[in-house]
Amino acid sequence: MAEFSSASTLPTPPESQTRLHFGKLQHGCEHYKRRCKIRAPCCNQIFSCRHCHNDAMGSLSDPKERHELVRRDVKQVICSICDTEQEAAKVCANCGVNMGEYYCEICKFYDDNTEKGQFHCDECGICRVGGRDNFFHCPTCGSCYSVNLQGNHPCVENSMKSFCPVCYEYLFDSIKGTTIMTCGHTMHMDCFYEMAEQNQYRCPICSKTVFDMSRSWEHLDQEVCSTSYQIFVDENCWSLHMIIDDQILGFFANFRGIFIFVLVIAYLFVMADPMYEGN
Ligand SMILES: [Zn+2]
Ligand SMILES: [Zn+2]
Ligand SMILES: [Zn+2]
Ligand SMILES: [Zn+2]
Ligand SMILES: [Zn+2]
Ligand SMILES: [Zn+2]
Ligand SMILES: [Zn+2]
Ligand SMILES: [Zn+2]
Repeated sequence: MAEFSSASTLPTPPESQTRLHFGKLQHGCEHYKRRCKIRAPCCNQIFSCRHCHNDAMGSLSDPKERHELVRRDVKQVICSICDTEQEAAKVCANCGVNMGEYYCEICKFYDDNTEKGQFHCDECGICRVGGRDNFFHCPTCGSCYSVNLQGNHPCVENSMKSFCPVCYEYLFDSIKGTTIMTCGHTMHMDCFYEMAEQNQYRCPICSKTVFDMSRSWEHLDQEVCSTSYQIFVDENCWSLHMIIDDQILGFFANFRGIFIFVLVIAYLFVMADPMYEGN
């Protein structure tokens, strides 16, 4: 293999350091920024990423031809800078660039955008995003969850190894954020909010109400925040919280206004009264 022998002509260390970052974030597909393409071991075709493969192969007209790529089986990649096909590795054996700033040897996963905080979870067996320190692995649910759910979520056997009841995508390795409802069932966060926007407040799997409207205000206040456990983003729960708070505040503000108005009228009436008596 000529590509491998030419690795000996690599530049000296300082230069090779800058070489590593050459073309960073300038290549890839709609799913990932990376500097290599993968040769799918299943159909021997070249794709930008696993999702590009699955999108193309999942929409084939012949159902027997449709298939998904097993990420760990990827052996060969093609450098996007020098077009050299080679064994999967972080650095291109021919031109010396990082084919991905983040590279997972187990998943054969490349991503130039390290701001996502990628990490490999051994128990999940896949790479996840969001920073290793922000997650723990729940062995019962069979997935990584945000640390603020530790000892604080409905634990359902393999609850993440299921399909979103709204869009039917497999949740465990979905690239979209997922939410756990109070019943323990799971769905995409986006699908959950879409459902709530259409005033659907029942879990599509078990029909359990997501919001219990019969409870008192203070209770509802807590209920809303515990309804959707945020796995990836925390802001949405806060905004729901704010809506409720504003309503309560508005109610009390109005009530106080009316109360003061009544007091002022009563005061004027009492003050005015003796004047009439005097005349
Ligand atoms: Zn394939
Ligand atoms: Zn892609
Ligand atoms: Zn290369
Ligand atoms: Zn990995
Ligand atoms: Zn995990
Ligand atoms: Zn759990
Ligand atoms: Zn969904
Ligand atoms: Zn449910």
